[in-house]
Amino acid sequence: MKGYALVNCTVYSPREKYEGVAICFNRVVKVGSENEVRRVARALGLKIYDLKGAVVLPGFIDSHMHLAGLGFSLSLVELDLRNVYSIAELKAIVAKEASRKPRGHWIIGRGWDQEKFAERRYPSRWDLDEVAPHHPVFLKRICGHVAVVNSLALKLAGITRDTPDPPGGKIDRDDRGEPTGIIRESALRPIYSIIEQENEDYENAVLRAAFQLVSQGVTCVGAVSCDIEELKALFRLAKKDVLPLRVRTYLRYSSFAEVKDVLPVDFSLKNVSIAGVKILLDGSLGARTAFLREPYSDDQSTRGVPVVKPEELKEMLKTVSRYGWQPAVHAIGDAALELYLKILKEIGHVNRPRVEHASVTPPDLLEEMRELDVVPVVQPHFVISDFWIIDRLGERAKYVYLFKTMIKKGLKVAFSTDAPVEPSDPLETIHAAVTRGEGLVKLFEITPGEKLSIREALEAYTIGSSLACRLENMCGTIREGSLADIVVLNRDPYKVNLSELKNIRVLATIVDGRVVYGTLNLKHP
Ligand SMILES: [Zn+2]
Repeated sequence: MKGYALVNCTVYSPREKYEGVAICFNRVVKVGSENEVRRVARALGLKIYDLKGAVVLPGFIDSHMHLAGLGFSLSLVELDLRNVYSIAELKAIVAKEASRKPRGHWIIGRGWDQEKFAERRYPSRWDLDEVAPHHPVFLKRICGHVAVVNSLALKLAGITRDTPDPPGGKIDRDDRGEPTGIIRESALRPIYSIIEQENEDYENAVLRAAFQLVSQGVTCVGAVSCDIEELKALFRLAKKDVLPLRVRTYLRYSSFAEVKDVLPVDFSLKNVSIAGVKILLDGSLGARTAFLREPYSDDQSTRGVPVVKPEELKEMLKTVSRYGWQPAVHAIGDAALELYLKILKEIGHVNRPRVEHASVTPPDLLEEMRELDVVPVVQPHFVISDFWIIDRLGERAKYVYLFKTMIKKGLKVAFSTDAPVEPSDPLETIHAAVTRGEGLVKLFEITPGEKLSIREALEAYTIGSSLACRLENMCGTIREGSLADIVVLNRDPYKVNLSELKNIRVLATIVDGRVVYGTLNLKHP
């Protein structure tokens, strides 16, 4: 029979510990002691690989990330602005890019954070005009919900002082009413639509992201905010059988509306399937656009706004529920979460509702989430990146990123990275969850009890994420009958110092029984 067995290794299922695993075609046929696995391998005529003491886990499932977005960010096309510490430095980077790009070509970047800038202010169109007047410039903030553009980009997008703020979006203006170049949320749409026409195609971006992910041990992703173009690219790649990992798509609501009458939920082509709908309900804490119950501690004039009106959200969720698709609602602020939960309660039956981020969760909302069986899809690395969170929330910071409390409450926590917002590396993400930025961020001191154990982190990345993506009968655990989605690591996460977690290497990644990264012919792990 076609297949192989892995022996001389430690297998974490992840709940149980074994000595080997046998794979036939794309399924696990045996997991057990070395003798049991060898016996099955002999009986079925499977090839045997000696893993020389390596560690075998279910592949990591990144339940919320942006596949094409990650691909675009990996291309040289997008400038990485995450380590920029002043507007002066930002300008220098844009100037350099402008000097080597033909006039008229877009300069695109991502990752700036005004909190890091020495100037302690947002960059403006005029900053960018100084260094790149002849290139349209579009630089996304770290959260991806806010961007700064220059005057040429505003012109191309048709945004002037007379353009009203669209529902769920904002064009920042100065005292004279002139757009400052800071564009928020849905107001970014006209800019995206021009860039997308010019950007390289989705297939390349998706593939580039997928190859990076499998090299990091990710075997499946929840690809959120997928639009029709990305979905088509995914199906084209699946048809050609070149996509190395499993993809569950969560379409944007507008894309769902376009296809809901022609494609049923869970429609699949090879390793790509349709899982649900992503709905954006609020913004980010960083940009003070997340919708809070009380005003921001560092700006009493605002508590954020929901991107969609409550009645509108209810209609959307009703439609999603009627079609049986799974809702994945982005709710960062406590008021956004409260609104979502209230509507879920009113609607009744919904296909395993997810809440994306669930950043601020006071006790009453945690209780409500448990009652409604809502799956929190969280991003542990936010703990490290959102170093300013106490400024934004004050006292309420004690309700932020309560992963341990969620697990203790019986919520089925799923891990993810929101890449390219955060690094896509699972071991870096697990490191963030188990250290919680101890010695690095102030949030740790306020919520020290929220550190997870290695076991909890591994389970959230496998079992938890498979539940969030409704794949628990197929992957997320290594057991007889499950799909062979597996990662082989050179060291045991339970046995290394926490500081060394990030140095663990992926030796091989197996998806659907196929080795899609690395090798099983190991010399010294
Ligand atoms: Zn996201």
